[in-house]
Amino acid sequence: LFISFEGIDGAGKSTHIAGLANAFRAEGRAVTLTREPGGTPLAEKLRAMVLGDPMDPLTEALLIFAARRDHLVNVIAPALLRGDVVLCDRFTDASFAYQGAGRGFDLNVLSTLEQWVQSDEGLLGDPAGNKPMRPEVETVIEPHLTVWFDLPPEEAALRLADARVPDKFEAQPVEFFRRVAQGYADRQQGHPERFARIAASQTRENVWQAVRQVIVEKGWL
Ligand code: C5P
Repeated sequence: LFISFEGIDGAGKSTHIAGLANAFRAEGRAVTLTREPGGTPLAEKLRAMVLGDPMDPLTEALLIFAARRDHLVNVIAPALLRGDVVLCDRFTDASFAYQGAGRGFDLNVLSTLEQWVQSDEGLLGDPAGNKPMRPEVETVIEPHLTVWFDLPPEEAALRLADARVPDKFEAQPVEFFRRVAQGYADRQQGHPERFARIAASQTRENVWQAVRQVIVEKGWL
């Protein structure tokens, strides 16, 4: 089971991802908790470059997808093969929202990168042959569910203002986050069956109940 979590900076993903990890573990499930960009030593190095250094949108997109491939091959696919619940803080939808809608990078090229980088090519097949071990495995590996924490950009800006020292992206003007938020909304439109939208301006407790409810309704908890 592969679940990703998305939303603009300040939407409150991390607390609820940790909460879900605990909930799954309490049911005896093994959980792989990971994040993007990052999740492997190489991908974490790429993350530091992407967040630290100024670069044009193409360079940024390529580095993030390179990090994603490394992460998928070395962490996500092996975890799925073991039968772990994989909880991933951001995945490809973030590239459509940040690099695409936010930075203006071509969405068609992002779709092509998505196909390339997430192509199964035996990653989830049995080690000796090419036959997929699991019926749910398609040629492109993607989350079974994406929990989208939808928060108005103005609210996110207020939350971040008292929260932490901003990285390159968090220091962007609110207009940037408006585009990113719209990018997520467009992504949901394109993948309504995969996306679960959570209204993230509710109280933390209500957000948590809403997240939990989505997973319970799927029969996963
Ligand atoms: O989610 P997290 O705070 O770890 O993300 C780190 C930073 O990387 C955030 O500011 C996020 O906006 C940015 N990011 C990005 N493009 C992605 C994923 C994350 O610009 N594809």
